[in-house]
Amino acid sequence: MAAYQLEIVRSAKRKKTISIRVTASKVIVQAPKDCSNQRIKELLTTKSAWIDQQLILAKKAESNYLPDVIKYGISLPFLGETITLKENNQSLAFTLIGTDLLIPQHYLNQESLYNWYYQQAKKIIPTRVAKIASTHGFLYNNIQVKDQKKRWGSCSNKKNLNFCWRLILAPIEVLDYVIIHELCHLSEMNHSKQFWSLVVKYCPRYKDCREYLNVNSIKLQSFLR
Ligand SMILES: [Zn+2]
Repeated sequence: MAAYQLEIVRSAKRKKTISIRVTASKVIVQAPKDCSNQRIKELLTTKSAWIDQQLILAKKAESNYLPDVIKYGISLPFLGETITLKENNQSLAFTLIGTDLLIPQHYLNQESLYNWYYQQAKKIIPTRVAKIASTHGFLYNNIQVKDQKKRWGSCSNKKNLNFCWRLILAPIEVLDYVIIHELCHLSEMNHSKQFWSLVVKYCPRYKDCREYLNVNSIKLQSFLR
């Protein structure tokens, strides 16, 4: 069993099950208020192989996400894929060819890379929202793509949508889930049973996507920050 930092969160609500979340730096256990430490300990022992595996995966993914130095050859996340930074000798622009992101020497820095990602998100996210909304018949007003720290998306009662650009670092399925989540808020401005039944209708694997965001939020939020 690997050594890790353990955080136990007792839920004040009527939570009945224990859930385990693994990040690169710690294991977070969410448990019902009256659950004994002994029971949590037993569960962690039973799940130790799975926890070890998740810790390795989380650490590996984190090292991919956090380049110490921006230089040619490093791997970067983009729509759930890994892209490689390469030199662009042909033009003065950023060019994405397959999984190679070609950039001129002049732009080989964090700020330029950040701007590129942000511009990509401003194109990709609204296009994706428009497509999903028209497929399922949702009507919204405006869309903004921001670098918000606390939320992946939001929906106002004026039917305006906000999304965090960092969603383009995650797999498309996860981005689509957040889009569907916010579009469903256009008719259900809450997280009621009706809301979730609407979400599951359009995104059957939404629980996996939520889990992905839970596990990877620090990684996504700290990228190029
Ligand atoms: Zn919501």
